[in-house]
Amino acid sequence: MKADPSRQWRLLDLAAIDTRVAQLAHRRANLPQAREHDEIAARFSALDDELVRAMTARDDVQREVNRSEAAVQQVRDRAARNQSRLDAGQGSAKELQAMQHELGSLARRQAELEDEQLEVMERAEGLDADVARLEGEHETMRGQVEQAVAARDAALAEIATEEDDLGRRRANVAGGVGEDLLALYEKIRAQTGIGAAELVQRRCGGCRLEIMGADLRRIAQAPDDEVVRCEECRRILVRTAESGL
Ligand SMILES: [Zn+2]
Repeated sequence: MKADPSRQWRLLDLAAIDTRVAQLAHRRANLPQAREHDEIAARFSALDDELVRAMTARDDVQREVNRSEAAVQQVRDRAARNQSRLDAGQGSAKELQAMQHELGSLARRQAELEDEQLEVMERAEGLDADVARLEGEHETMRGQVEQAVAARDAALAEIATEEDDLGRRRANVAGGVGEDLLALYEKIRAQTGIGAAELVQRRCGGCRLEIMGADLRRIAQAPDDEVVRCEECRRILVRTAESGL
């Protein structure tokens, strides 16, 4: 293939842009800010689950507290009723004796229920403290998640901006390469990742191998507008003043 040297040199600009585009794609796929965000988002989600479990447990115990209070109140009310009837001396001697007896049982029952109530209230206090602590951690971590999102999005936006810029420059450079040479470059790029390389001091910039002997003589003697390729990696080899020919 024939192509004016100025068109061939543009391939080096194109290769530099394509290399940078590949670096940016790699950077996006391995963004530390994205990894940090994912880590903290996973921890936040686990904390969220933990908070929901703690709140559910607290609500369950609160219902126990309410039931316990109601039970104690019921016994107190019944004892108060008996006491006032006893005080008023209502009923037969047998009835009054039975009520007196029941007051004793009610007092024991009340003491038991109050012990249970105390135990359940202590559990409720412990769970309240758990919920308060988890809510605090949740709030702090929510802020950290927001910061991680912002850091990741800023890094992605920076990459996108550079990609847009490279896209414009690439279109500009590719326009001056010419269709036939560009097609060859793209074909090699699809196979090897880099379509063209500079020949620097008799070394291929693509595979880094030194070109010697008959290959070197053939390249040195090829007319400037002849498109030559590396025998090792088959990339387009662009000759410049640095080629050492
Ligand atoms: Zn090569």
